[in-house]
Amino acid sequence: MSKQPKIAVIGSLNMDIVVEVDTPPQAGETKFGSSVRFVPGGKGANQAYALAKLGANTTMVGAVGQDAFGDQIIGAMRQAGVHMDSVKRVAEAPTGVASILLAEQDNRIIVIPGANGLCMPSDVDANIDVIANADVVLVQLEIPMETVIHAVRAAKRLGKTVIVNPAPARALPETLLREIDYLTPNQIELGVVGGNVAAEEDVVEAMRGLQRQGVRNVVTTLGAKGCAFVDENGESGFVAGYKVDVVDTTGAGDAFNAGLAYAIASGSELPDAVRFAGKVAALSVTKFGAQGGMPDLRSVLDFRG
Ligand code: AMP
Repeated sequence: MSKQPKIAVIGSLNMDIVVEVDTPPQAGETKFGSSVRFVPGGKGANQAYALAKLGANTTMVGAVGQDAFGDQIIGAMRQAGVHMDSVKRVAEAPTGVASILLAEQDNRIIVIPGANGLCMPSDVDANIDVIANADVVLVQLEIPMETVIHAVRAAKRLGKTVIVNPAPARALPETLLREIDYLTPNQIELGVVGGNVAAEEDVVEAMRGLQRQGVRNVVTTLGAKGCAFVDENGESGFVAGYKVDVVDTTGAGDAFNAGLAYAIASGSELPDAVRFAGKVAALSVTKFGAQGGMPDLRSVLDFRG
């Protein structure tokens, strides 16, 4: 991994409002909770943040509102080293928010996409130089599907390597599947994009099914168990998860995708790239918060599992 990888992330930015309470209120009830935290999140922002922490030259394309949450997110991401000039400020919608109620064994989450829903194909066109300058383009599904499709097409036209993290799970049109270099579902998302994965043995078959539809490489994350992959030469493999003391698994998938994008952009072959991604993700779950847990490159290289 010699040169600094250049990555464009096209995706969502949210403010997560995390409220802790012992048990959720009943209908019509008002309760005191024990804490509230405001934590920048959104899959796009988490992955961009993790990439910058690893030392990648990272540019984010997305949208936030003209409000205080938008200011805070842009400030925090800039401080982490993410180039944020291609994140537009919209007057028509607030910054995306995830309202997260954490109760004992009962988490409830409401997501308001807000400005993320206004990240349009025209924003991809307006920032085509960002894609042209990148080694790898990384997208998720928290922005409109038409924008995802447009971004992937634009990136492929420019000869870029494209990674699509199909989260949250949505079916993908076959025309899009044909343009994807690396598709990175978790097991549930694999079921939605690739068909039945009720049993573990079905995972490789479902990934091969996606390859028959045109995806070049598929990596399925399997939580603490690790990940499975099929590559463009038809090889399949499994990489076990690293054993760590788990504090908070929020953002593990985002850390994994950032690690994978970093390694692929640095020229790694897929088996090495998924091992690197697994280390980034394992380190991320040892700390609180999606972005707060993202490791730097030195910690990943020193990590022995
Ligand atoms: P997931 O999105 O839950 O499938 O997790 C993504 C990746 O994070 C997995 O492929 C693992 O590499 C890593 N990971 C998730 N949970 C854990 C855990 N409890 N311990 C170690 N690694 C984990």
